[in-house]
Amino acid sequence: MDTFVQDTQTKHTVANFVGGRFEVPAVDTFLDVPNPANGEVLARVPLSGQGEVDRAVQSAKAAFESWRSVPAVERARYLFRYRDLLEQHKEELAVLVTRENGKNLDDARGEVRRGIEVVEFACGIPTLMMGNTLPDVSRNIDSELFRYPLGVVAGITPFNFPCMVPMWLYPIAIACGNTFVLKPSERTPLSAQRQAELLVEAGLPDGVFNVVNGAKEVVDGILDHLDIRAVSFVGSAPVARYVYERAAARGKRVQALAGAKNHHIVLRDAPLDKVIPIVIASAFGNAGERCLAGSVVLVESAIADEFLVRLTEAARSLPVGDGMDPATELGPVIREEHRQRIMGYIEQGIAEGAKLVLDGRTVQSPDGKGYFLGATIFDEVKPEMVIAREEIFGPVLSVMRVDSLEEAIAIANRSQYGNAAVLYTNNGRAVRVFRETIQAGMLGVNVGVPAPMAFFPFSGWKGSFFGDLHATGRDGVEFYTHKKVITTRWLE
Ligand code: NAD
Repeated sequence: MDTFVQDTQTKHTVANFVGGRFEVPAVDTFLDVPNPANGEVLARVPLSGQGEVDRAVQSAKAAFESWRSVPAVERARYLFRYRDLLEQHKEELAVLVTRENGKNLDDARGEVRRGIEVVEFACGIPTLMMGNTLPDVSRNIDSELFRYPLGVVAGITPFNFPCMVPMWLYPIAIACGNTFVLKPSERTPLSAQRQAELLVEAGLPDGVFNVVNGAKEVVDGILDHLDIRAVSFVGSAPVARYVYERAAARGKRVQALAGAKNHHIVLRDAPLDKVIPIVIASAFGNAGERCLAGSVVLVESAIADEFLVRLTEAARSLPVGDGMDPATELGPVIREEHRQRIMGYIEQGIAEGAKLVLDGRTVQSPDGKGYFLGATIFDEVKPEMVIAREEIFGPVLSVMRVDSLEEAIAIANRSQYGNAAVLYTNNGRAVRVFRETIQAGMLGVNVGVPAPMAFFPFSGWKGSFFGDLHATGRDGVEFYTHKKVITTRWLE
């Protein structure tokens, strides 16, 4: 099935997916979707409005009436079929991610794999949705808890994991018996289209999964729609706060996963030959466009000079290029405007007095068309500097020197964010102090990108998360279900 409708200007147009049908909405505005590696326009995406949101919600609402009573075992079977299709198409999906997002093919393959793992988790829904019982809560009285789907739920997702982040959400939501409306990033809408096609192939009933393409107007349409019961958002902190407040004000359940500023602490006992490649992959993989990217390194002063020399040397030699080239380690950033924004932060770091030891601005794309930026490293960064506090979301790493683990943790804990934190050491006591006192939800010990697997919650803290129940794992099941407790007296 081809969802890219050829238009008169020969560009492909991404379609919405509503009630089991692909359709290009009758709207006036379309955005180009360029390949960040070379600027080639891959497609154009419609900016839908509230009318398109309502159509998708009505289709999801109608589908909910029958989907809710499909037995959990049968709902799981659709997901088993879908999982097989994802496996068959995993390479094609990875190529699509690289083309629309820019990350290198290995990272894209990892992203697809992580998405498939959520589908595998959701296949266990008959067990996951089980309730609890307690006989004899009092004499001749039993209590039982049952779990039910909420109804129509929605997901709003970012550009940086166009395949995986939607898959954090809808497989669990629909496995629980909900129906779903997805609003993918307008900068990377192609992966979601392909997922819709594969769900059709898996035989998912019409209206259970819907996609509405667009930007803020679609988001507002979702937040305000009275028939949407819950909203999952993944994206930047200001938008996460906005989504959380506006959707909650309309009585919806909300989980809003937000931005980050992740601190990595390198202690003097850590073997640098092992640590440097891990730090490099965390800071510069996906061009730094990860919510789990390392962006501040706090290194013990005793080893700081050696660490910096070796780090800079390794970062300087990272091959920059099109993610489709197997040699590429550092692909482009998402758009030219984003590249300019990152360069603005580099200028600000220099102006604030940080020492620029590696300047990625000197890297140019071969034909001048892609949005490339080389690895950039600052030394002598102070906690109060803007580059130490704000999410840059690009290949820029700030290094600070500290005298102890406690000092490093104190600096990290002052951050407004608390998504991830990483400690490099083999010292057990230090690991324990780190685990007990760091204020972040996803911790790594000698692991640079500590992404929880599908059966654990993706659990940012502080300004990195708005809500109560996180995405994936049991939290995902709790978020997409509500409960009834029945108390029964057995009359003599
Ligand atoms: P973004 O906030 O710009 O966009 C996310 C979604 O919100 C998109 O679908 C977009 O269309 C919509 N949106 C954008 N501006 C809006 C507005 N003013 N009003 C309403 N909706 C709006 O984020 P992005 O640039 O696509 O993604 C990068 C951000 O996502 C980073 O901050 C990153 O840390 C964060 N992120 C967080 C996690 C996590 O798990 N915490 C995971 C991935 C990405």
